[in-house]
Amino acid sequence: MTGREDDRARRLADLDARTIIHPHSVIGAPAEPLVLDRGEGAVVWDVQGKPYIDGTCGLWQCPVGHGRPELAEAAAEQMAKLEFYSSFGDYSNEPSIRLAERLLELAPPNMRRVFFTNGGSEGNETAIKLARLAHHHAGRPERFVILARTGGYHGMGGGSLAATGIDRLRAGYGPLMPGIEFLAKPHAMRGADVTDALVAELEERIERVGADRIAAFVGEPVLGVGGMVPPPADYWPRVQEVLRRHDILLILDEVVTAFGRIGHWFGCERYGIEPDIIVTAKGLSSGYIPMGAVLAGERVLDLADGASFLHGFTYNGHPVGAAVALANIGILEREGLLGRADRLGRRLLDALKPLERLDHVLEVRGVGMMLGVELDPAANAAGVQAAARADGVIVRASGDTIVLSPPLVIDEQQLDTLARVLTKHVAAA
Ligand code: PMP
Repeated sequence: MTGREDDRARRLADLDARTIIHPHSVIGAPAEPLVLDRGEGAVVWDVQGKPYIDGTCGLWQCPVGHGRPELAEAAAEQMAKLEFYSSFGDYSNEPSIRLAERLLELAPPNMRRVFFTNGGSEGNETAIKLARLAHHHAGRPERFVILARTGGYHGMGGGSLAATGIDRLRAGYGPLMPGIEFLAKPHAMRGADVTDALVAELEERIERVGADRIAAFVGEPVLGVGGMVPPPADYWPRVQEVLRRHDILLILDEVVTAFGRIGHWFGCERYGIEPDIIVTAKGLSSGYIPMGAVLAGERVLDLADGASFLHGFTYNGHPVGAAVALANIGILEREGLLGRADRLGRRLLDALKPLERLDHVLEVRGVGMMLGVELDPAANAAGVQAAARADGVIVRASGDTIVLSPPLVIDEQQLDTLARVLTKHVAAA
């Protein structure tokens, strides 16, 4: 590194600390930002030229890896042609139309329409409002309760945060949106046959609240922020059966799980279910530009048929976002990246599993390329994140769990380095 690069890095870090409030940071606390400069595949470089293996692909948004020229070209081409026009009412644009068609081809057969968003929180706001409006329009306005789960994460907006079952994220903001009922965290690997208990809890809660007051159930196929927690294999089909019996809509939050992260276009395929609404974002555009999509199935559309959906954000249906998403889906398909998730995820899981022998490691778990190493709360998960970063590997502490979600393009050697560095720092935690 030259003196000039060092100087630039220090000036940027100082300026950052004086000017920016970062998401998920302590306001006013001294900061040592990692200022990133460029990326390629599964590696990012900071402004001093130091490389990092990206074990999380940012916030798990980048299946195709960093630095793809095809995506930059798709954006530039569309931006030069028509940078943006609102999609409100009867305005539209070709990339959105083509992307909606493509998504409906890839989605489960009951999916009928697409509502575009800028990200996951907006997607869940949209899904919750659509589910409530559908019942309201069908003459059942008292059907507005949303069932959610402890450990679930759905975003930072009014409704999406209210449905997020992680206490540390909810504190300090006054009353959140009412009408949410939390169920237990579904966890496959702790103890046998937890599904019976989870389904019994669901049935009891429906009985207590009254099915005629419940609009929808919202959940992630695999809990992400809540600690990379896969459900028991029979959980989703059994939950779906109960919900259908009571006419409760199923909103599946696939912001993380769609577009290959657990080996399928949509995670619901893995669990053999057909939700009524699917929320996506992140992997849809690999994060090259903010983009999300909510897919609506026939049941919810039948209920909502003719309803005035006075909902939408300025940049919904952004043509540049749609053009990038189409190109991103093209890469996932051409390079067969979905097929890598299980193979590489298994290799990483096998490499990390021996950590379970340590007293302070509670569990090493995962499905596809979503993995978690859960530490005892007394161990220092944030310290593992910092030490791994100093060693050139990016991982993330989410509560007490080190979460991993590498890009699907990561190679075996990079994966093994990631496992080795993480093992070293977890052992020392
Ligand atoms: N749902 C899930 C499952 C998520 O993991 C996230 C983001 N981590 C969101 C919703 C919110 O998405 P965004 O940050 O794009 O608003």
